[in-house]
Amino acid sequence: MSQFPILFSEVRIGQVSLKNRIVMPAMATNFAVDGAVSSNMVDYFVKRAEGGAGLIITEAATVMDESTGEFGKYHLNISDDRYIPFLRRLVDAVHSRDARIAIQLSHLGRQIHSSILGTQPVAPSPFPCPVCKEVPRELSIAEIESLVETFVSAAGRSYKAGFDMVELHGCHGYLIGQFFSSRSNKRTDRYGGDARGRSRFCAEIIRGIKREFGSSSPVIIRINGHDYIDGGATLMDMKEIVPLLIEAGADALHVSAGVYGSYRATVAPMYEKHGCFVELAEGIREVVDVPVIAVGRINDPHLAEKILKENRADMVAMGRALIADPELPQKAMSGRTGSIRKCIGCNQGCIDRINANMMLGITEGITCLVNPSVGREAETGIVKTTHPKNIIVIGGGPAGLEAALTAAMRGHHVSLWEKEKAVGGQLRLAGEVPGREEFKGFISFLEMQAGKAGVDIVLNMLATQDLIFKNSPDAVVLATGALPAVPAFIDVRSAVVLTAWEVLEGAVPGGRRVAVLGGGGVGMETAHFLADKGKQVTVVEAAGYLGRDIGLITSFYLRRMLADEGVEFLRFSEVLKVENDEVHILQKGGKKVKLSNLDAIVLALGAVSNAQPGNDIADVVPEVHVIGDALKPRKALDAIFEGFEAGRKI
Ligand code: SF4
Repeated sequence: MSQFPILFSEVRIGQVSLKNRIVMPAMATNFAVDGAVSSNMVDYFVKRAEGGAGLIITEAATVMDESTGEFGKYHLNISDDRYIPFLRRLVDAVHSRDARIAIQLSHLGRQIHSSILGTQPVAPSPFPCPVCKEVPRELSIAEIESLVETFVSAAGRSYKAGFDMVELHGCHGYLIGQFFSSRSNKRTDRYGGDARGRSRFCAEIIRGIKREFGSSSPVIIRINGHDYIDGGATLMDMKEIVPLLIEAGADALHVSAGVYGSYRATVAPMYEKHGCFVELAEGIREVVDVPVIAVGRINDPHLAEKILKENRADMVAMGRALIADPELPQKAMSGRTGSIRKCIGCNQGCIDRINANMMLGITEGITCLVNPSVGREAETGIVKTTHPKNIIVIGGGPAGLEAALTAAMRGHHVSLWEKEKAVGGQLRLAGEVPGREEFKGFISFLEMQAGKAGVDIVLNMLATQDLIFKNSPDAVVLATGALPAVPAFIDVRSAVVLTAWEVLEGAVPGGRRVAVLGGGGVGMETAHFLADKGKQVTVVEAAGYLGRDIGLITSFYLRRMLADEGVEFLRFSEVLKVENDEVHILQKGGKKVKLSNLDAIVLALGAVSNAQPGNDIADVVPEVHVIGDALKPRKALDAIFEGFEAGRKI
């Protein structure tokens, strides 16, 4: 009998039957081309359909007219019939893999800026979003009525394209959600005021869809169970609203959380617990009798089954879990849960990358830190080699582990040499920071999978030219990582100077007063690590912004935790000299300050490549690949990607 009897039981949304209760929710991919479905997008969703998800919901498709601005580059569009053939191709491909598919219909309202949209945003009321900060134009009654028909027409196109159902994007602070919330909806006409007024826009869309396409056209409403922002919709507010949506004909509710600027992120980072928003679904479920979908870091089939078993929800959305491992459902069904690549909530390859790219005007698509094949599904299958080679991978950080695993899966004979007593490199150290432990879990996963694939992992093994020569490998992968950068103005003879890596490795300084030099990701994480151990920490950063090399969501959570822990920040502060137990600083405006009587001075000032013994072996080994930080210090996402590529190409 299956370990997950409820998860893999049938469920109905309206009259449509789903083979299991696993939903892939809408998440931006950047794969649309001029608003249309691309081949890349088809491959991406087909992979998840083949992996066994019961219901796939596309990323948000805008019902708005084609934009003249940049916005159109990034989003699916369903405002015109010309998109239907592209959508049909996606639907047919997913259906042929025995999965159901819905499309999410969206209007951003005020959560966009005219510089991207190409025109002034609109909203229920003329109050700006706290992030986009642009006053939107208040919609007239006639415009609202017209938008209702716009959504209904978009639903018509969806059914024409063959979608099994539509989902209305009423969460995360977008237009429908803006109507729900009295923070953004200050109207005094029939579209504002009490719960009935605030739900009217959404209810009219649902009624319009049912009127035009019949009750057999299921409609899911994605709502927030809580906006997590002052004055925004709460669970209590939404419990008043949802019965009115059901009365209008909604067939299921999908309960998420958060808006732009909220104090809990919609795409919950590693710092949030698994199942972080399930209590909201549970609360909504108390007042409705249609299926309720829960979401929020559900990355494990055991947790999914537990949520269903405890009657907290009827279905589970496993978004990033299915990005990280599209085969999660099949692996769970066949008892191979140990081989699931679990999403760790880092956000590096998905939402942070999508957001950063959008701000830079880049259209690079989604990928995943724990699964570098994401976004390149058609080209990155593991192909067995016909010429097995003897390969030595030097360095057991994430790049080396991924390279070794991939090469071994292809049939090569792989030894991995790690000079430390444990593999993991910097990712293992990052996993020492409170709330970041899942990095260590991923390293353990890679180590275990590499072992299963036949990689011979040798610890405490310092690679020398002689040793490599004696082993006469056909190829060497240099994944020797990086070393902490120590600028010349640091007096390394000072007894209180340590690197961040030494601290995270366990060399926690005595005393209380600590200065962390460098406010990038490593500096902030180390400050958090030290503050958690009761240290009084000052972070000194030359730039004005902290956490510049980490994603917006992670940086937001870290900055808040550090502030709560009483960590002091000196921004725009250039370190001139470190001497004995003092740090001499030049601040913006020319003011000089000094931190004295420090018990520790922790360096988090970047890293330099450690490509040894690179040059020494190039002459004696036929094939040498330098990857990850050994090539150039960057993020773990880049290191793992390059490990995968090396393993794939050798
Ligand atoms: Fe999860 Fe990180 Fe992959 Fe995003 S990039 S799906 S958060 S593991």
